Amino acid sequence: MSDRVYLDWNATTPLRDEARRAVSDAMDLPGNASSVHAEGREARKWIEGARAAVASAVGALPRNVIFTSGGTEANVLALTPGVRRDGAAVERLVVSAIEHASVLAGGRFPQTAIASISVTRDGLIDLGQLRELLRDRPPTLVSIMLANNETGAIQPIAEAAGIVHAASGLLHVDAVQAFGKIPFEMGGLGADLLSLSAHKIGGPKGVGALVLAEGLTGPEPLLRGGGQELSRRAGTENVAGIAGFGAATTAAMAGLPADSRRLRGLQKRLEDGLRLTPGAIVFSSSVQRLPNTTLYTVPGLRAETAVIGFDLAGIAVSSGSACSSGKVQPSHVLGAMGFDRDIGQGAVRLSMGWSTQDAYVDRCLEAWRNLSGRLLKG
Ligand code: PLP
Repeated sequence: MSDRVYLDWNATTPLRDEARRAVSDAMDLPGNASSVHAEGREARKWIEGARAAVASAVGALPRNVIFTSGGTEANVLALTPGVRRDGAAVERLVVSAIEHASVLAGGRFPQTAIASISVTRDGLIDLGQLRELLRDRPPTLVSIMLANNETGAIQPIAEAAGIVHAASGLLHVDAVQAFGKIPFEMGGLGADLLSLSAHKIGGPKGVGALVLAEGLTGPEPLLRGGGQELSRRAGTENVAGIAGFGAATTAAMAGLPADSRRLRGLQKRLEDGLRLTPGAIVFSSSVQRLPNTTLYTVPGLRAETAVIGFDLAGIAVSSGSACSSGKVQPSHVLGAMGFDRDIGQGAVRLSMGWSTQDAYVDRCLEAWRNLSGRLLKG
């Protein structure tokens, strides 16, 4: 695999060395973190170290970090009727139309209590519609992602939070794709609940966190039983996964300023090259985007064919989101942005990370030149 170029970092990232070491060291710990003996206390130390790292990265208090099995579980846990702060508990849910499937499914809200916010052609949520959806309605939980996994478009979360709080609602932010790629803090966003996932930042797969703002009541646990995670998620902790998440978080935060500057440069190089193809469209290119994400198409392109062509040329890319690739389905994100089915089935996502080099971008562009010459002729 050594000469392959991996450009599918939004699907998942390679494991960072720091995370691998932490996972391996924590795997060797014999104790259960709930035990009072030295072995138990040592496992507890790793978990609390990771909790402090995650909390500090998003400007939260460690006691408000609940470790989960990943971003999906964090989202489902967040979307719970009955969550409250001061005022009345939330009774209904509003989600944006471009959310991850785990948010669109609505968590523990009945389908009849869920409404959707549309997005503009640039892939940004319609704040006017959000205001309307909350007017004279019972307290509402609103779920909006910080950055979209397909387009990379960064949503106006702080403005949305102002609208939600003015209507006595609460805001859940799925920050899975933004974490480690752009700087943010929960307070600055105005988020009441925030979802994170380790494997998007160089941590192991199968671990994540839901982070709560101080003073929130709920959400009711998904898993009841033992008193782990302050009785908010029962079950013996995944010490190795959590340790890897903590180490990846520290490394990602340390590298963030330099990585995001460098990736922004690579993104420009990549998109300048793609735009040489007549008719090429880079989605959401007129709004703020993650520095690592490029979703593009050319009229007449079939994404599955392009993904296979890239793969044969040694380059891993994706068609839309990883969860829907493999199925020949147009992207729900591009559909919500008002693009027709053909365009939705032709979009290719290139996503980069901390070890992506200029030469990889050049290889990708060379492969695209060959492919587009073949795929688009006639
Ligand atoms: N939210 C977003 C925006 C994602 O992109 C993903 C994963 O692709 C998830 C949530 C789910 O995270 P996990 O894979 O850790 O369950």
